[in-house]
Amino acid sequence: MADLLLGKPVGDALSEKTAALAEELTAQGIQPTLAIVRVGERPDDLSYERGACKRAEALGIAVRKFLLPEDASQDDVLAAIAQVNDDASIHGCLMFRPLPKGIDEAAVCNALDPAKDVDGITAGSLAGVFMDTGVGFPPCTAQACVEILDHYGFDVEGKSVAVVGRSLVIGKPVAMMLLARNATVTLCHSRSRELPTICREADIVVYATGRPRAYSLEHFSGGQTVLDVGINVDEEGNLCGDVDFAAAEPVVGAITPVPRGVGSVTTAVLMRHVVEAAVACK
Ligand code: NDP
Repeated sequence: MADLLLGKPVGDALSEKTAALAEELTAQGIQPTLAIVRVGERPDDLSYERGACKRAEALGIAVRKFLLPEDASQDDVLAAIAQVNDDASIHGCLMFRPLPKGIDEAAVCNALDPAKDVDGITAGSLAGVFMDTGVGFPPCTAQACVEILDHYGFDVEGKSVAVVGRSLVIGKPVAMMLLARNATVTLCHSRSRELPTICREADIVVYATGRPRAYSLEHFSGGQTVLDVGINVDEEGNLCGDVDFAAAEPVVGAITPVPRGVGSVTTAVLMRHVVEAAVACK
């Protein structure tokens, strides 16, 4: 039976430090504030937003919402981002993506003031991750994976890590972050050959593809650590990860469940970034 790498203890430990920092800032007259930019009302976005608002409130972080209709134009979204940039009382910005079709997402992302980019969406922040410059903030979910490994005491140095999925939100940044910690990283994608073998031979595997329960017994080996980033809804309407948990759990050494795994750390990372951005503004 695998050890369950629950997200809650990781998120709680992070939040404890964040709350203390937020309290210090507030005592100095600085109210740490997160802006949320949402276009339309996608259920996933609304659910994440509810969780983020709840956590922000618990930590003493204010939230300002910039809500736009589904048919908002690129100029409308750019105007919201300009408002965020111009408002000195806002320290960080979470913008839900994907944006509706017809909007140039990269142009909108890069319009955000890099100092307020707490979710690694600007080219500047991503360059920071890829070049290890320490500039900007990495995408929160990628950072959440690293926090989980740290919290549970997994040292990645010299270990073989397979990352399945190469998006700029998770796969690529998490691969770079683990490489920076001297892991030997194989970055896999939909055209990768021999994926089950690559996964089986890795000490640690990060699955981030958005394919419900797609990774089964042939991908797992005894003792390995599995981080399942996928958040999917199966045919019966149940939340599930990319990994077939029932097949993995008896074989692997440790695994994050879905739900209660990586997702529950992501908002804690976001809040920490907001407070760090507020500290940097002082
Ligand atoms: P994307 O759709 O942007 O990327 C998916 C990646 O998976 C692509 O690189 C794609 O490869 C790869 N892929 C698709 N099919 C296969 C396959 N058969 N074999 C190997 N690789 C494959 O998704 P995201 O990165 O945005 O999200 C991934 C998952 O993570 C989703 O389930 C999402 O809901 C979840 N998520 C979870 C969060 C959390 O807080 N836990 C936050 C954000 C997302 P290719 O590039 O070749 O197309």
